[in-house]
Amino acid sequence: MTALSFYAELLDEVLPEHDPQETVFRLLVSVLEQTTVEQSWMPLTYFSLWMTRLVGLLPDIAHCTACGETLQAAEISFSSYHDGLFCAAHRNGSGNLLSADSWQLAQRMLRAPASAFAGESWPRRRGTDLRRFALQSLERHLERKLKTAEALGRLGG
Ligand SMILES: [Zn+2]
Repeated sequence: MTALSFYAELLDEVLPEHDPQETVFRLLVSVLEQTTVEQSWMPLTYFSLWMTRLVGLLPDIAHCTACGETLQAAEISFSSYHDGLFCAAHRNGSGNLLSADSWQLAQRMLRAPASAFAGESWPRRRGTDLRRFALQSLERHLERKLKTAEALGRLGG
């Protein structure tokens, strides 16, 4: 229920009224098919990342947003104040690190349908930093916190 409320709140906040947004609709259908009682972290991660891209807040994630250098796994960071990902030289003092697993996951998720990840093991801790990155980007853009994101933070699993 919390996952479904999250999808609804984000769509409601992000989409202009009466705009059909075919791509967003297809994204929603694909994550709904994957959201089950046992499995919610994968579709939640997929949806958050793709919504970030579809609203135009996700620059090329293979390169540093500040200098354009190719990013190297294990030294990639993101910031609460700026969109994009940063190399070691451009890490903001308070920036969070994005793990190598999450960075590779993001690259795969941007190329493959949600169903491609269904067979993988998805404990809550997997992709936590990637979800935080996407949510921070979206909340910065919306200029408010998503109520349901807070509820997700309290979920176990
Ligand atoms: Zn850089």
